[in-house]
Amino acid sequence: MLKCSKCGCNLEEKDALVHKDQEGKENIICHNCFKEATGVDYETFAFRKENAKQTFFAVLFCLAATIYAFVENGPMYGGLGIVLTILVYIFASKAK
Ligand SMILES: [Zn+2]
Repeated sequence: MLKCSKCGCNLEEKDALVHKDQEGKENIICHNCFKEATGVDYETFAFRKENAKQTFFAVLFCLAATIYAFVENGPMYGGLGIVLTILVYIFASKAK
């Protein structure tokens, strides 16, 4: 059993969150204190993190496709791929 370092409540290991404070010290806190400390609840935070990961992979995939198109079909297709990659990136980061 863990204890929240802010409010002192008991925590299940799966509910414990590690939060870095301003001095960079790591604290174990509960979901409620996480919300208080960051202004977002943990579900929203986790969702954003997941979203960022998906954006990263989408861009990575586009880049790989761009390189493939460049090698296989020449610079024109490569350039098209870069434009597409940038578009994917813009749309993905706006979708939040
Ligand atoms: Zn707490």
